[in-house]
Amino acid sequence: MEKGGSKGGAKRGKRKSGETPPGDTRDTRDDGTPAEPGRVVAHHGVAVLVRFDAGGERQIWLTPDQRAVAGDRVLVRGDRLVVEEAHGVLRRRDARGRERTIATNLDLLGIVVAPEPREPPGYIDRGFVIARAAGIEPMIIVNKTDLEGGPELAERLEEIYGPSATVLRVCAETGEGVEAIAAALSGGRLGALVGPSGVGKSSLLNALVEDLDLVVSELNRRSQKGRHTTTTATLHSLAGGGILVDTAGFKDFIAVDVETVEVAAFFPGFETALESECRFRDCLHRSEPECPVLAAVAAGEISERRHRAYLALLDEIAEPSRRR
Ligand code: GDP
Ligand code: ZN
Repeated sequence: MEKGGSKGGAKRGKRKSGETPPGDTRDTRDDGTPAEPGRVVAHHGVAVLVRFDAGGERQIWLTPDQRAVAGDRVLVRGDRLVVEEAHGVLRRRDARGRERTIATNLDLLGIVVAPEPREPPGYIDRGFVIARAAGIEPMIIVNKTDLEGGPELAERLEEIYGPSATVLRVCAETGEGVEAIAAALSGGRLGALVGPSGVGKSSLLNALVEDLDLVVSELNRRSQKGRHTTTTATLHSLAGGGILVDTAGFKDFIAVDVETVEVAAFFPGFETALESECRFRDCLHRSEPECPVLAAVAAGEISERRHRAYLALLDEIAEPSRRR
């Protein structure tokens, strides 16, 4: 294998032979310490676990003013961490009502629903808006298709959301269809599963990540040495190259703020209508003149029911006391 391609090409840091792995692309800018590119795969409060592109993992302590979360791309120089700019940021609201980052660099958000328990009204729509506003592709995963009402639920959601996103039918219990989740993440895409408690997110993760128990116990062992720390999110590699964020414990992600303009721009089902521009740039598709969304509702291309769901989501956002 030819080396080359190393940024700057400088090779200042003297290395003992055998220390440099083959295919090394670490650059030697800055103070001459080689920078190892990697990704944060777990966050332990005061430290992060970094998986290096060249292989191997190492825990790196954060400086007091440093923020890094699962999914972040980083450069590690010795003990120091440089966090690269991220896209696809997924947030949640903590117990005090503050928004916290769960994970970054997400490509796909799997919104998991099931015939039992059913998601609250507007849950999927809000998930779509949150994902799209963050530049993350939403996908609907209908789990527990073995249960009564499962196929009917999937059919109904395909009808509503099929034109806007992929709708998968899966069964974590039998493993049926779960490979489609891994396939949607192939090629190194990063995804997360969100959904109300009890729909089967953990079961899906277990079905997708073969040695999950092993990985979890290893992380616990690591995090227990030294100071007391808490794992808040973990990345798992899937067969096929994808990565899935374990978001166990973040059941309230859907409570993060969204702007009315984001709902107006990203509500699922309005895509075709919005290929034409509204007369007003800040149109909320309520009763404004020359609004292609309202025209589509009048023409029966968007159902009144979906428009009502949209208006309900707008109202919910406008009235913080009703927000959960
Ligand atoms: P989470 O809270 O979203 O992580 O949900 P869990 O993975 O803990 O699952 C909640 C319950 O649903 C458990 O009792 C699971 O055994 C059950 N469950 C998960 N997937 C399926 C499925 O595909 N079919 C059926 N019948 N039950 C499932
Ligand atoms: Zn409009």
